[in-house]
Amino acid sequence: AGDLMKGKRGLVMGVANKNSIAWGIAQQLAAQGAELAFSYQDDALERRVRPLVESLGEPFMIKADVTDDASMDACFKQLEDKWGTIDFLVHAIAFAGKDELVGSFTENTTREGWRRAMEISAFSFVDAGKRASHLMPNGGSMVTLTYLGSERVVPSYNVMGVAKAALEASTRYMARDLGPSGIRVNALSAGPMRTLAMAGISGGKALMKTGREWSMMKEDTRMEGVAGAALYLLSDLGHSCTGETLHVDAGFHAVAVPSMEDDE
Ligand code: NAD
Repeated sequence: AGDLMKGKRGLVMGVANKNSIAWGIAQQLAAQGAELAFSYQDDALERRVRPLVESLGEPFMIKADVTDDASMDACFKQLEDKWGTIDFLVHAIAFAGKDELVGSFTENTTREGWRRAMEISAFSFVDAGKRASHLMPNGGSMVTLTYLGSERVVPSYNVMGVAKAALEASTRYMARDLGPSGIRVNALSAGPMRTLAMAGISGGKALMKTGREWSMMKEDTRMEGVAGAALYLLSDLGHSCTGETLHVDAGFHAVAVPSMEDDE
């Protein structure tokens, strides 16, 4: 515990269960003194998330379906009514249909699937970021979660990789627009982690294994490292860092050839 986030308030979007990256981040932020609001997608999720949030103290939970403007309006209205201003935003939301997260990207990407993946996984950060910035008169920091499938081809990741590329580009444009207001905007590119979203990807288990075996550190990406990077970006330690995509993946992103026979 410490006080890196003391006096800071923010919204965490995307906790679905105890394995969610958003939950890992929330716990570290809370341990550093942050005051947190949590948004959840629907009532079924609320029932699952509430006990987690309650473990951190008095819960502040808000419904927000990122595909619905009225829902987003109501969410940010509740934040404004209760707190007036906020200091940070955590965006850990993505979605693509199961049928698109398998096989040929070229064959399996439908117009509707493309639209949904882009809307939920990329536009939602632009929209939430805009709304959050209106509550950040004293500056602030925003972080979204992304994955290497945006930069390189990963089997089955398909339309989600394209959406993550849009998300990372959006992060840079948002950082440019909001920079003069003292608001930093960054993306955190995490290695594969065992979450609900990962379970939706065909071959997710193999992806975890490859991530581990080909990474520089020969280990899984650890939640504490991902959450620690979020803490860096969201706290004042992250001053001057904006428009960045920070990889936390045990070095996997920088490897071209995992090993040579002579090496072994
Ligand atoms: P998760 O399933 O726990 O979280 C995904 C969240 O998105 C859920 O809370 C879900 O409710 C939310 N969501 C989906 N559609 C929504 C909508 N219409 N409105 C509101 N919320 C909606 O899985 P996770 O792995 O923690 O995913 C969080 C983020 O991290 C995602 O952007 C994901 O792509 C990214 N990420 C995950 C990994 C990984 O290996 N798990 C790696 C890198 C990046």
